[in-house]
Amino acid sequence: MLGVALGVEGAVIEDVRVEADGRFVVRVHPRRKDKRRCGVCRAPSPGYDTGDGLRCWRTHDVGIVQAYIEATAPRVRCATHGVTVSHAPWARHGSGFTRSFEDTTAWLAVRTDKTTLAGFLRVAWRTVGSILERVSADALAKKNPLLGVTRIGIDEVNYRKGHRYLTVVMDHDTGRLIWAAPGRSAKTLAKFFRLLGKEGRSAIKLVSADAASWIGKAVRRACPNAALCIDPFHVVQWATKALDEVRREMWNTLRRKGDTVRAKAMKGSRWSLVKNPEDLTRKQKGKLRSIEKDNQRLYRAYLLKEQLRDIFKTKGYAGVFMLDAWLAWAGRSQLEPFKKVATTIRANRVGIDCALAHGLSNGRVESMNNRLRLLTRLAYGFHSHGPLIDLAMLKLGGLCPPLPYAT
Ligand SMILES: [Zn+2]
Repeated sequence: MLGVALGVEGAVIEDVRVEADGRFVVRVHPRRKDKRRCGVCRAPSPGYDTGDGLRCWRTHDVGIVQAYIEATAPRVRCATHGVTVSHAPWARHGSGFTRSFEDTTAWLAVRTDKTTLAGFLRVAWRTVGSILERVSADALAKKNPLLGVTRIGIDEVNYRKGHRYLTVVMDHDTGRLIWAAPGRSAKTLAKFFRLLGKEGRSAIKLVSADAASWIGKAVRRACPNAALCIDPFHVVQWATKALDEVRREMWNTLRRKGDTVRAKAMKGSRWSLVKNPEDLTRKQKGKLRSIEKDNQRLYRAYLLKEQLRDIFKTKGYAGVFMLDAWLAWAGRSQLEPFKKVATTIRANRVGIDCALAHGLSNGRVESMNNRLRLLTRLAYGFHSHGPLIDLAMLKLGGLCPPLPYAT
């Protein structure tokens, strides 16, 4: 029972003592079946030497006293890994903590803040980073999140000032993060596709992404059976930008003409135009009505933006037909910025039609990115992006182990 309480279930307890400095120390040794195994792969291996004497692992506190597990650490000669420290069943290889303590740390890291975690467990924040690395690697070795994936979303997330980016991949069917790596280029994404393997790559049917050309290029090269869906949100954003351009252009014309009253009225109209109509305040709705009355050209631009949004709400083949009509309308609108949007849409038409037909958007990936950005605050102070990715995989990839006493 004491073994279970201290996270060394399955080990043989030799001795329990309290040191002069108040530390609680439990001396153990592995059971016969766990002895003489490689610390890396656990393969039974011949003994090499008795190692460097006693080793110590921090485990769960006993009350308010810090507790340690103590054992000899003989070395073995593994056929694959050469001379290594033998397997200690209560800890991950190379760690100074018990597995149970590390799982608890990871469980807290995905649920609470930095100060609470480091204060409660009495561990340095950098140490937490190393723990997350081991727990995540262990979880990934047990469960490959890339298995059976057919519909993925790819995006980039800016995780720190100074243009530091992560490329992230999400599984549309589970809503989970399945891969992340530093950088944003076809080369970064190629690493993901290599990891996926030939079979995995040909199993990919749908990929959602913004219209970034490097993503399209990498996907086309790697996944022969995948259709690329361009994220509707980004397409609507092109129209929103075009609308803003029309507004600014007209504002400047009015100012040049000296029509200060109308110019001033227009200056405050931005939000009435770019916000979704259902989110408008009463005042903004009034502004929109006056634009409809006084400014046909700007109102036409507004309608074009709204119609495009409607198309993505409608989705399916009806949406594809509506888009045909929209392109014709934009073409004759006499609004240069919208003609440009029409050209961009035509150039990306296959991907946009694919998004319409499958109703797939990158919205879930974007919302995951927002959660990832929140994690970066927690991960600030880690020595590299590694622990941030590990934390993200544990939290957003659903890889976090349960609490030791929940199993
Ligand atoms: Zn080995």
